[in-house]
Amino acid sequence: MASRLTVLSGPSGVGKGSVVQAVRHRHPDIWISVSATTRSPRPGERHGVDYFFVDVAEFERMRQANELLECASYAGNWYGTPRAAVEERLDDGVRALLEIELQGARQVRESLPTSRLVFLAPPSWQELERRLDLRGTESAEVIRQRLEVARAELAAEGEFDAVVINDEIEAAADRLVALMFD
Ligand code: 5GP
Repeated sequence: MASRLTVLSGPSGVGKGSVVQAVRHRHPDIWISVSATTRSPRPGERHGVDYFFVDVAEFERMRQANELLECASYAGNWYGTPRAAVEERLDDGVRALLEIELQGARQVRESLPTSRLVFLAPPSWQELERRLDLRGTESAEVIRQRLEVARAELAAEGEFDAVVINDEIEAAADRLVALMFD
């Protein structure tokens, strides 16, 4: 039987990337999708590992060719999940995890209704504000914009099948994995 696809989403700054990293270290048996994006690599990021870094023309080609399971524009760049790799893993019975933003999660719910959507929530609104501030990489205006988006994203919690509170990264990763093996 094909295994279920799990989609992890949640507001910007909640720590989705860190929780997925923790899952990667502890559960090599879980396959984690590598997205395509038009944003530039950050220092240390590797093509094919962190993302497939593509230009807008290539992203558009992938989209037109129906090669993306979902895609969304986020903070001025395009992001999308290559469809074939996900379908292959599911057919092989491997548990698969996507870490994507909200619009993409909604598209996956439409196209693969058996997938499980998990919302990663901050312990509190104040904590989310603090984390967005702590990144220290963004200007006050960008932080303000991100908080506005985060407020709307937090309101989407009810659309999800399960909520994991990211109070502590390893504990949140354990709870996510438990849901995937449930
Ligand atoms: P970042 O640029 O910080 O790596 O990612 C920005 C946002 O894009 C994060 O919320 C991340 O979850 C989301 N994201 C990464 N890959 C995908 C994808 O394939 N599809 C969608 N919809 N969002 C993605």
